[in-house]
Amino acid sequence: MDFVKRTIELALQNVEEGGRPFACIVTRDGEVIAESPNLVAQTSDPTAHEEVLAIREACKLLQTEHLLDCEIYILASPCPMCLGALYYCSPKKVIYVTTREDYAPYYKDDRKYFELETFYDEYSKSIDKRRLPMVQQEEVDSIKVYQRWRELNNQSK
Ligand SMILES: [Zn+2]
Repeated sequence: MDFVKRTIELALQNVEEGGRPFACIVTRDGEVIAESPNLVAQTSDPTAHEEVLAIREACKLLQTEHLLDCEIYILASPCPMCLGALYYCSPKKVIYVTTREDYAPYYKDDRKYFELETFYDEYSKSIDKRRLPMVQQEEVDSIKVYQRWRELNNQSK
């Protein structure tokens, strides 16, 4: 199977069904383990990106949170959320078909605190310079959660 063509096909089918123009396929040893289109439009879930959904399905199926021997195909270069998810599952390789620059003339997804074009720039700023209001509210008891976790999990430093 041509995984790039399958990724395009899956995304195009999603567009025809009212979904957004993105899809992801997780493969291992030349076989599809899991695949998903973007389901944000269908579910009103802003985290229902194709990478997150396909990674979840693959991990559930393979009973692991590490997709070390998998290759992941995505139609577009990932957003920061999905890039994070890709780092967490640590696949052998990520193959993307289009770049943000390629599809920018046809697709917009601007939000209150970012535009697709500025998303990565936003992340590289210090917290007080970002558009998303975010503050730390310290509490001494919070560290007890981690201390307890360490007690129960015998983690050595
Ligand atoms: Zn994403």
